[in-house]
Amino acid sequence: MTKPTKYVYAFAEGGRDMAALLGGKGAGLAEMTRIGLPVPPGFIVTTDACKVYLATGQEPPELGVEAAQALAGLERAMGRTLGAPDDPLLVSVRSGARFSMPGMMDTILDIGLNDESVTGLAKASGQERFAWDSYRRLIQMFGHTVMGVDGDLFEQAIATHTAHDHDLGIAELAHLTEEFKDIIRRETGEDFPQEPADQLSRAIRAVFDSWNTERARVYRHREHIPDDLGTAVNVQAMVFGNLGPDSGTGVAFTRDPATGERGVYGDYLPDAQGEDVVAGVRDALPLSELRTLDPRAYVELGDHLRTLENHYRDLCDVEFTVERGKLWVLQTRVGKRTAEAAFRIAHDLREEHTITADEALVRVDGAELTRLMFPRFDVRTTDRPLAHGVPASPGAAVGAVIFDSAEAVRRAAAGEQVVLVRRETTPDDLPGMIAAQAVLTSRGGKTSHAAVVARGMGKVCVCGAEELAVDTAARRFTTPSGAVVREGDVVSVDGTAGTVHLGALPLTASDVGRALETGAATDTLTEAVLGALAHADSVRRLEVRANADTPEDAVRARALGAQGIGLCRTEHMFLGERRQLVEAMILARDDAARGRALDALLPLQRADFTAILEAMDGLPVTIRLIDPPLHEFLPDRTDLAVRLARTGHPDPHDRELLAAVERMHEQNPMLGLRGVRLGLAVPGLMAMQVRAIAEAATQRLRDGGSPRAEIMIPLVGTVEELRLARAEAELVLGEVENETGTPLQCPIGTMIELPRAALTAGRIAEAADFFSFGTNDLTQTTWGLSRDDAEASFFPLYIDKGVFSVSPFETIDREGVGRLVELGVEAGRAVNPRLETGVCGEHGGDPDSIHFFHRAGLDYVSCSPFRIPAARLEAGRAAL
Ligand code: ADP
Ligand code: MG
Ligand code: MG
Repeated sequence: MTKPTKYVYAFAEGGRDMAALLGGKGAGLAEMTRIGLPVPPGFIVTTDACKVYLATGQEPPELGVEAAQALAGLERAMGRTLGAPDDPLLVSVRSGARFSMPGMMDTILDIGLNDESVTGLAKASGQERFAWDSYRRLIQMFGHTVMGVDGDLFEQAIATHTAHDHDLGIAELAHLTEEFKDIIRRETGEDFPQEPADQLSRAIRAVFDSWNTERARVYRHREHIPDDLGTAVNVQAMVFGNLGPDSGTGVAFTRDPATGERGVYGDYLPDAQGEDVVAGVRDALPLSELRTLDPRAYVELGDHLRTLENHYRDLCDVEFTVERGKLWVLQTRVGKRTAEAAFRIAHDLREEHTITADEALVRVDGAELTRLMFPRFDVRTTDRPLAHGVPASPGAAVGAVIFDSAEAVRRAAAGEQVVLVRRETTPDDLPGMIAAQAVLTSRGGKTSHAAVVARGMGKVCVCGAEELAVDTAARRFTTPSGAVVREGDVVSVDGTAGTVHLGALPLTASDVGRALETGAATDTLTEAVLGALAHADSVRRLEVRANADTPEDAVRARALGAQGIGLCRTEHMFLGERRQLVEAMILARDDAARGRALDALLPLQRADFTAILEAMDGLPVTIRLIDPPLHEFLPDRTDLAVRLARTGHPDPHDRELLAAVERMHEQNPMLGLRGVRLGLAVPGLMAMQVRAIAEAATQRLRDGGSPRAEIMIPLVGTVEELRLARAEAELVLGEVENETGTPLQCPIGTMIELPRAALTAGRIAEAADFFSFGTNDLTQTTWGLSRDDAEASFFPLYIDKGVFSVSPFETIDREGVGRLVELGVEAGRAVNPRLETGVCGEHGGDPDSIHFFHRAGLDYVSCSPFRIPAARLEAGRAAL
């Protein structure tokens, strides 16, 4: 860090673009001062000063002099002296970091009061009670936040006088200040500092220190705010909203931050200080009441709000105070808002010609859009949840609790709404997950099996609800508070909040989800959403395709704007009733037997592909040949062994099956016989799949369609594998062309999901028409960890310790895995300029990752159907 020229800025010297140095609050105060709003004057100690303090434990040596000069300037401007015995200047010392951290850091009011100036304040204000109340508040706040005294001790002292500090008389207040000073002396061995300059410098240091309190740290980690930014400190002349009925304090928004509706919105509390509003000491009045209480202040506030909104060209919120009819603005910032408000406000500001369409697009994001797509519980509901877990997949669902997949399927088929509850889920639970309204687990994080699958399906999921003791055998779960929920009991699962509630909470359907599928707006919100998406589509370079394995998913994806299928997995086509055929294929003793099994699978696969190509007619469909290890299609080894051991006369088929399972058992199936290795090792398997694709495409052509099938070879590590696979595929394509006399266009490409593939992408591109980065496996193989194991065990620890701030399976690890993607694209294109590149891992639907893929120059991202609108939006934002 080069040495800054100065550490202190008067409000009049700063501006909105200096938030990194002056903090968000300081930059806002400076900007308002600059454009002539009535801001009590003051100065800002920079974040640079804080950084020096945090690094060395000492303020920079220049700070003392600079702060003293700034204070002298403030005193001149106010015509009063800090803490002077008669008519003292009082100041607030306010924290304010680059990013707002609501309530996370400390602010101290009324600095400058002491045993003498309290009487000066009483005389100058004409209100003795007010002066003593301010003094006792200062000692209390200072004693707690600066001197570290337990706040309860002060509260207990108040309680010996009265139930309500509002009822305290002047004498009692004066007495209380003495008691408070005694408490401080007893607890710290020090006196409450009487010297105003002392109070000021110690308060500034306390704000610096508050950067590292536990709650501030926790908040930063959750919000991904870096730990080294530091906070600025604002020193500002006090104004008083608690001087009687012609005074008061409040907060106001230029539009409704909940709905985005036009029109000023806020709360007002007469005869009160700002802190009282935050603490909820008394019920505030709606802002409109100020119109009657003080029409002049109300009109003036309205003018300032308009000025601010035009100036910031966005929703602003302000803190304000009226002191004896005089309005002061104490804070402004571009206001936080709900997802709904974000879309509406961006849309309205564009219609009002305040911002451009590009700017409107930047104001909304994919996460907000996703939130709007889920049905949700009525937000006013205030019942206590049964348990909290990880909000893994947003939305709201109600259903009867069911503890196993088969039962969930049965009940759902009978028309019942069910919630599947498991300790954790496995691929075997898939049918039950599909049948359920929501999935609830007591183990696992945001990227556990349950979470990933549920998100992919757009299904509500709360996972890792550790308070729940799930007893699958007894078909019930219990909570620490003693609630017992049995199979069939109805619960509500809030995947947005991560909570589970007993009984059915009322639901509100999502108009946005419906409008996205139909393309028709039904109100201002849906109009805003569709407008933002239309603009995103017009500016984005990245195409958005879907990960879809069924015709139904393909239809849905297309309605949501998919421009093709980037990943059609074929292994799902080997499940269910077809398992027997797959077993027969695996158990085959000779080529003939295997051939018969494959022949039986061929028409089934062909029908699958024909239906998907039809649903995606005219658009590319990238079909991945079978990827997982074959034993995934066989029964579990232990189950089978137990079954065999139990029966006196073991079924020969079962015995054969067990032998096969044991033959195929692998220590590390993820790194075993799978992907292209499997295709090369099992004679006829790849040929059958390619034939099914080719015949399906031919069928579609004959039916007048425009099929655009692409064949994708998984888990290639070297170009030799791809050459072999490609030769076999081309042979079959040629055969089918000869048989049918119909020429086929069928590009053949590969997944890039091993570091070696990325590193040798130039070689691999010699044999590939396209690359699809499989970033799930690429992340596993680059980091050398298995997702299913790692997430449940040490990821929480790693996130807590700051090894990474977000799971690399959720957001692409740019430095490592992302670097491999960049290398692969670059090397591949150098060899084959027409190489098409895309990504089909979970990251394809993750907003942050999409921005990275745009910059890396990929042609498309592919994600689950439900995430397509958000991906389109983010691809558009990335292009701006
Ligand atoms: P936070 O970041 O928690 O909102 P603030 O620094 O904004 O903390 O201050 C807390 C409360 O004190 C706010 O309501 C604010 O308006 C009020 N306040 C801060 N400085 C002054 C001042 N100089 N005069 C009057 N009220 C103030
Ligand atoms: Mg504030
Ligand atoms: Mg893979």
